[in-house]
Amino acid sequence: MPGPIFFTPGPSQLYHTVPEHIKTALKESIPSISHRSSQFQNIFATTRAHLKELFDLPDSYEIFFAGSATEIWERLIQNLVVNESLHLVNGSFSKRFQQISSELGRHSISVSCSEGLCVKPDELPVDAKPELLAITLNETSTGAMQTAEEIKMMRSQFPEAILALDVVSILPAVPFDMSLVDTAYLSVQKCFGLPAGLGVWIVNQKCLERQQQLKGQGLSTGSYHQLSALKEQGDKNQTPETPNVLGIFLLGKVAEDMLKAGKEMMHRDTRYKAAVLYQAISKNELLEPFVEHRPHQSLSTIVAKTVQPSSLLIQYLKTKHLMVGSGYGPFKDQHIRIANFPAHSRESIEMIADFIQNWEGK
Ligand SMILES: *Cc1c(COP(=O)(O)O)cnc(C)c1O
Repeated sequence: MPGPIFFTPGPSQLYHTVPEHIKTALKESIPSISHRSSQFQNIFATTRAHLKELFDLPDSYEIFFAGSATEIWERLIQNLVVNESLHLVNGSFSKRFQQISSELGRHSISVSCSEGLCVKPDELPVDAKPELLAITLNETSTGAMQTAEEIKMMRSQFPEAILALDVVSILPAVPFDMSLVDTAYLSVQKCFGLPAGLGVWIVNQKCLERQQQLKGQGLSTGSYHQLSALKEQGDKNQTPETPNVLGIFLLGKVAEDMLKAGKEMMHRDTRYKAAVLYQAISKNELLEPFVEHRPHQSLSTIVAKTVQPSSLLIQYLKTKHLMVGSGYGPFKDQHIRIANFPAHSRESIEMIADFIQNWEGK
């Protein structure tokens, strides 16, 4: 019997080619090779090149690897913020980044809104001078998605600040113009459909220069994962530490597969599958989309509010071997969260949508 399908918003269903690439990796002894070997350098360069193409990255942007998105939150603050960071907070993930800035002793300020909403550009403080402006493209805890238009406006309101965008649970499922931000980051167990334990950190020259400047002033910008160390090693297609070699290999393979399948096709599929899910939710009177404002409804993390305890629907879907996420934090028994990642085929989404639409409750 085939295993269950994971629609949980991370870790999630593996991209369909992952088992085959793991076999190849074992056959080629990838987990045993030296991270200083030319074989690793080739893997590193290949993965970077595929990611660059997948994200349409401008030439001046660099890609580095870390252990997770959570690590990158800490590194962003250590590398780029001396005094103040400004965070748009609309759920648990955006809030966690703000906490990390505080825990590192920075003055972290936030503009918050209720869960299910996104902060609007005209709500940002006009007199703040943050060194870093933190925005979450897709707040995975609520399914609220900030629009590119809003991000553009916010950037123009803080031209000096480094704009850091959390793209963890949404890229590369949708297109996004990276030139709108200075740095973006993700971890691979969400939209890439890979095992957890690898973070991808994209930075532009402004970030590299800012870190150099702070370091030049004698300030600490961290140690092995300060940007200057990542850049120095990255220029040699290496990493400061012994990295997740298997993870970097698999990421390159999956990025290549996504390119071969066609990124426009992947982006179109995401839209189609999201529409199918939102429609199923709307048609069942025991459910409704948690995010009401259409432009803010996430395309990759569909959150439904349930009239009855959400555990009933979660259990029901489980009997069909379909695993969905419960609500996050305070919404645990009031929401279900369904991932719509590239690993989820149209057919599998149509199937779960059908069960959701026809669920009759208890
Ligand atoms: C999952 C997630 C993170 C944290 O990722 P880790 O891999 O656990 O570090 C950060 N931001 C968002 C929006 C997420 O969905």
